[in-house]
Amino acid sequence: MAETFTFQAEIQQLLDILVHSLYTEREIFLREVISNASDALNRVQFELLTNRDIRDADAELAIEIKADETAGTLTISDTGIGMTHDDLVNNLGVIARSGAKAFIQAMKERNAPAAQDVIGQFGVGFYSIFMVADKVRVVSRSHQNDAPVFAWESTGGATFTIEPAEREARGTDIILYMKEDAKEFLSNWKLKDIVRRHSDYIAFPIYIGDEEEATNKQQALWRQDPKEITDEQYDSFYKNLTLDWEPPLHRIHMRADVPLQFYAVLFVPGNPEMSVLSPRREAGLKLYARKVLIQEYSKDLLPEYLQFVQGVVDSEDLPLNVNRESVQANKVMANLKKTLTGKVLSEFKRLAQKDKDAYLKIFNAFGRFIKQGIAISPVDRTEIEPLLYFASTRSANPDELFSLDEYVERLASNQDEIYYIMGEDFHSAARSPHLDAFRQRGIEVLYFTDAVDSFMLMGLNDYKGKRLRNVDEADIDLSAVGEAQADTPQPERLPEDTFGALRQRFAEVLGEQVREVRESKSLTGSPARLVSDENSTTRNMFRINRLLDREYELPVKILELNPRHPLMHNLSARLANEGDSALINAVVEQVFETALLQDGIHPDPASMAARLTLLMQAATGSNPGDLPFGQ
Ligand code: ADP
Repeated sequence: MAETFTFQAEIQQLLDILVHSLYTEREIFLREVISNASDALNRVQFELLTNRDIRDADAELAIEIKADETAGTLTISDTGIGMTHDDLVNNLGVIARSGAKAFIQAMKERNAPAAQDVIGQFGVGFYSIFMVADKVRVVSRSHQNDAPVFAWESTGGATFTIEPAEREARGTDIILYMKEDAKEFLSNWKLKDIVRRHSDYIAFPIYIGDEEEATNKQQALWRQDPKEITDEQYDSFYKNLTLDWEPPLHRIHMRADVPLQFYAVLFVPGNPEMSVLSPRREAGLKLYARKVLIQEYSKDLLPEYLQFVQGVVDSEDLPLNVNRESVQANKVMANLKKTLTGKVLSEFKRLAQKDKDAYLKIFNAFGRFIKQGIAISPVDRTEIEPLLYFASTRSANPDELFSLDEYVERLASNQDEIYYIMGEDFHSAARSPHLDAFRQRGIEVLYFTDAVDSFMLMGLNDYKGKRLRNVDEADIDLSAVGEAQADTPQPERLPEDTFGALRQRFAEVLGEQVREVRESKSLTGSPARLVSDENSTTRNMFRINRLLDREYELPVKILELNPRHPLMHNLSARLANEGDSALINAVVEQVFETALLQDGIHPDPASMAARLTLLMQAATGSNPGDLPFGQ
């Protein structure tokens, strides 16, 4: 008696798209089915390491593909782990693959015909068989000795059935009843071609038709001589691993003999979004011990900040039954991690020196992780520092980035500190009043405009003996640094007592919002700025809290006023006749909030709109006394 089940709603949507799609690269269904078979073989191989008491413990671990032109069927069989009744219901009735979910999401957001463009990108797994088959029957015998055999069947509609079936040996048959227009896939020649292109390095032999020789090379790519591997082979290996659509940005193939013997192929993904779409559901490298897959997602091989790296590590020294408590395994793992981390970082450094553009592609995609490394992995700090790049006052555009080394090489005369400014983005940083004095003296300032830069600063206090200083620090003295540019004529300075009265008014109006109001020695083009004399960690905490979406209080800073600025002249003239007190106060508030805005720390910029409107009204003619200032 067959039981009938309904597919999870998302699978129904997916099937509907796949059954009706005109996707031209339908051949990828074979790659998906072979990859599932290979996973099933990996799992039974792993089980066999510790447990010989399973069905057909001695069966060859292999994949077989048989086409029957008369019956119009294609059968893909494996001697893998197999599936029980419940496995069939759960694994082939509910979506596990995040890629498939992302696929459906993307489909909902686009027009249906675009399905053709995206199927290959997402890798929809098992269900891709419905692009080529009208009906599918899966017969499986679990590795568990006494589990009965069942068959799963579906025509790609809303339901599937499960019924008792026969199969002598452990493993799974996927029987595809090919669509009329997919009969081409019943040719052995065609099948071989597809297997060679998409599944060549699958670690288990793939037999096609009656041939005794496996079609695939089965050579673990990472164990081959890099000189004999083409770019296409690396890319196809990467795509098989991640199902990423774009080629990787960079690859590292390493083979080491001492102190550890291991092989590794690591990739920097082409796209930082991949973690969401990739069928690789978690971060981590695939870990093999002497060619046997022992961990699908090993997070212990690279530090957290390098978890964006994908790839495979195959160790000769790990005991096969990796037991977390095993001292030897832990030692080997720690050593592997150290070696792999060092290699990735030195490879990035080499690339940055040899081909800055290529490195910057990596940095633009994953720089925020690298920057986090500075804060969370102090041991790697010196290795990470050369990998940091920033825009600066020297950049012609936001994409022109410089390393700390480049900065240090062109310090201005007498400069022994590294200056940076924190801002929301390149353009607002570039317009900041803090830069007035630095520009004037030809001193370069780095732009820290990335949200994680405040976090990075927790681990970056100095570089090559030069202290990093935020340009808003109150006690920076530039009088001996660089060279003052030819004097641009400055408006006259307000007399001491007039300026004193103005300062007084600012302090009264702003109250607790500022710690102090004082004269600026550095401003030239701007009326005011906020400076800080707290240490940088305290100052940064608020940005970090904001980054983490935690509650934060605005830091209370010192307001510096420029006594030469025309606005200060106007204000102090008004103050002298005490004409429109309300207007003066509104301007004072606005000067302060503009400074907050310029530092990218205004908590609610839209709240300024009402005041700005009133100020514009006053500027264009209304009698300020008639305006509802201060209400
Ligand atoms: P994924 O492979 O990403 O998990 P699929 O949709 O391709 O997603 O497959 C769904 C699940 O079905 C697999 O995770 C696995 O548990 C099971 N499965 C598919 N093919 C086989 C097979 N040949 N042998 C054993 N289990 C399989």
